[in-house]
Amino acid sequence: MLTIADLGVLRDVRVDGDAVTVTITPTYSGCPAMDTIRDDVVLALTEAGFADVEVRTVLAPAWTTDWMSAEGKRKLTDFGIAPPTGHRPAGPIPVALAVRCPHCGSLNTREISRFGSTSCKALYECRACLEPFDHFKVH
Ligand SMILES: [Zn+2]
Repeated sequence: MLTIADLGVLRDVRVDGDAVTVTITPTYSGCPAMDTIRDDVVLALTEAGFADVEVRTVLAPAWTTDWMSAEGKRKLTDFGIAPPTGHRPAGPIPVALAVRCPHCGSLNTREISRFGSTSCKALYECRACLEPFDHFKVH
């Protein structure tokens, strides 16, 4: 299972008796998955016996794909989602990087839509095996 720690979303956890404060940074402003992640964190910790669960959302410093662990990237590939490649461009001009197909490994892919199953992901298509896949955006 891909965890929020793998994604680098989980920034901090503080436990004080039966109270716990979890700090998360969204992967993408307006990412609808963050509401689900927050609910899942509260549910999991409540079930674990914490009476007081607080989830704080911290926007600065902004999340970057660099925070995602190698394990997290590997799990994304296992799920058929192309992990982020390279690093954010240092300059103001975005650099288009070849996205590797998670199914066959081909770099001969193209973006079909800026928005895949969630706004954090773009929908790609592989020209080699013709399979569509989600690409986690680098930002
Ligand atoms: Zn392919």
